[in-house]
Amino acid sequence: MEQAFLKYLAQQKQTLPTETLGIGDDAAVLSWPAETKLVVCTDLISDETDFHLADVTPQQIGRKALAINISDIAAMACQPVGALLTLLLPKGDVSLPLAQGIYEGAAQLGEQFGCPIIGGDTNTWPGKVAVSVTVFGRCPAEKPLLRKGAQPGDAIFVTGQLGGSILGHHIDFTPRVHEALQLRQICGLSAGMDLSDGLSIDLPRLCEQSRVGAEIESRPLPVSPAAIQMAAGTGKTPQWHALNDGEDFELLFTVPAGEVERLEREWSGPVPITRIGTILADPGVWLVNEKGSREPLQPEGFSHQ
Ligand SMILES: [Mg+2]
Repeated sequence: MEQAFLKYLAQQKQTLPTETLGIGDDAAVLSWPAETKLVVCTDLISDETDFHLADVTPQQIGRKALAINISDIAAMACQPVGALLTLLLPKGDVSLPLAQGIYEGAAQLGEQFGCPIIGGDTNTWPGKVAVSVTVFGRCPAEKPLLRKGAQPGDAIFVTGQLGGSILGHHIDFTPRVHEALQLRQICGLSAGMDLSDGLSIDLPRLCEQSRVGAEIESRPLPVSPAAIQMAAGTGKTPQWHALNDGEDFELLFTVPAGEVERLEREWSGPVPITRIGTILADPGVWLVNEKGSREPLQPEGFSHQ
């Protein structure tokens, strides 16, 4: 199977920058501008834990495995430049078409973001599908954007809309690379991350790294149509889903108060950005509800005893 897959890979065309060496040699080669920081991340997804093979196409698996990593590179306001794709596949006839489909989905997304698949490995075993992707990114600024750096008084923003990702967004989301780079050109972001586990879990992580607290408001939360749809079935509010559902893969970022006006004036989209709250000096993450009262923001929903 591995030989047949290598033969397939040899026939695939990807756009590679000059001096980049992709699949085919013992190792890949990337040229690197002097004094430029390399950022690298990796993620492993597997059947039954992160997706159900029966419900998705191999292309969707490959696309998602790369997209979640590109989203992490975007979270650092960096440009992805190449990816390694490693597959562990069930033994049998299914493994070759599965490998080809996963590669195809990843390579298509990679093409869109200037992030070719430059290497990886494939093996079969008596278990389920697992896909590991590693992405290399280049930092266009002096420093990558970190979770650390938010200051009291900074405004908290998110891109896009939140909640209800499980209805489809988690499979076909677009990593916010262009948005992160554009934001950083407009204003001085103080901290940022991507929303993978839900705002109520991820915002405290940013606050912890920055050693600050935060207050977010329920009213301006950009609730997605999918969150409204979810709420109709769960009996929770759409805002609850926007706060607690995972896999939005939007950017959460903070902006010094003095830069907010410029950002809002100069942001040209097409993905919306929304101010949802403010960084506080004291630890603790709070939600100001529609009636104006403040309660702790609890991960996985607020418990009103
Ligand atoms: Mg992340």
